[in-house]
Amino acid sequence: MNIPRMSAAVAVLALCGGAALAQSAAPRPDQAPTPKWFRGNIHAHTSASDGDSAAADVVRVYRELQYDFLVLTDHNLVTPIDGLLDASIPAPPPPPPPAPGAAPGVVPAPAAPRPFLLIPGTEVTGKVGQKAVHVNGLGTTARVLPSGGDTVLDALQREVDAVVAVSGLPVVNHPNFSWAVTAADLKAVQRVQLFELYNAHPQCNNIGGGGAPGVEEIWDDVLSTGRTLWGVAADDMHDLKRPWAQSAARPGQAWVMVRARELSQDALFDALRRGDFYASTGVELLEYSVTATGIRIAVKENSMRKYRVLFIGKNGRTLKDVPASSAEYAFTGDEGYVRTKVIESYGKLAWTQPVLVAASRK
Ligand SMILES: [Zn+2]
Ligand SMILES: [Zn+2]
Repeated sequence: MNIPRMSAAVAVLALCGGAALAQSAAPRPDQAPTPKWFRGNIHAHTSASDGDSAAADVVRVYRELQYDFLVLTDHNLVTPIDGLLDASIPAPPPPPPPAPGAAPGVVPAPAAPRPFLLIPGTEVTGKVGQKAVHVNGLGTTARVLPSGGDTVLDALQREVDAVVAVSGLPVVNHPNFSWAVTAADLKAVQRVQLFELYNAHPQCNNIGGGGAPGVEEIWDDVLSTGRTLWGVAADDMHDLKRPWAQSAARPGQAWVMVRARELSQDALFDALRRGDFYASTGVELLEYSVTATGIRIAVKENSMRKYRVLFIGKNGRTLKDVPASSAEYAFTGDEGYVRTKVIESYGKLAWTQPVLVAASRK
């Protein structure tokens, strides 16, 4: 079988991003700032559509959870973000106990609120028969409505193109919600590079079943044909008011860690477009670096937990399985692509983006 490879341009981009992660020298004053990791949720609903809470309350919760950015993505509308930051300043943490010998009655000034970026957006919410075809438009300020379609792929492409037409960044949402979007659809859809590898809404069938593949299997199927697709994780947050409910789509369950030069929409979206991020449900990385010869990864450890790092290649093949919180992989040249997955003993996960491994590396 002839399996096309990802383009060389993609490989160079992925490698440049990875190599830059390994840099440690301080930049000269005339250089761009050293990239940092920013934590964000790119899928959240408010009471403007079917969320249970006002937008200001949603924003406040993500600020209290120490996120760096949030995209509001209500169904088929754009929730205005003007004034929401001022209306959502989180309660300050309790002051620390006075230092020994400090004068009584002296209370330290409260710290300034942590920087936080709020980004407008929408979830284009269409349907073909009983199948939900949803595409997020990150950064959209114009309303984008679904325009139907004869097939799921037709509807998906229309929604993606409608988002691109208003300069939004499209994301194909929850492929397995209503078992709507297949690997064949993701191989064929154009002008979109991002899809939800993991959506924390309890109805999203992330792990598959009944003969239907899980979303991670779908991802490997698509990647193995040479189609580049970056996988995000997101809350699809709807519920703040009933955190105990099994059916609740809660905040703080799944997010992206984006490596960008600054906390701005342009910098974050550039990084998302080039796959310079990882998806997480609770695992934080200390290091992720890609060179011409291999990959190094290290997890921020919690002493109560244990870790396992998988290196995964074409057709979902496990290339290396390391029972530790840090690992290295040396390219052999016949992997097709290599991506990493971290499994933590409490059940939390992280996924990095695929790196092309061309035969010429060998
Ligand atoms: Zn949806
Ligand atoms: Zn949603």
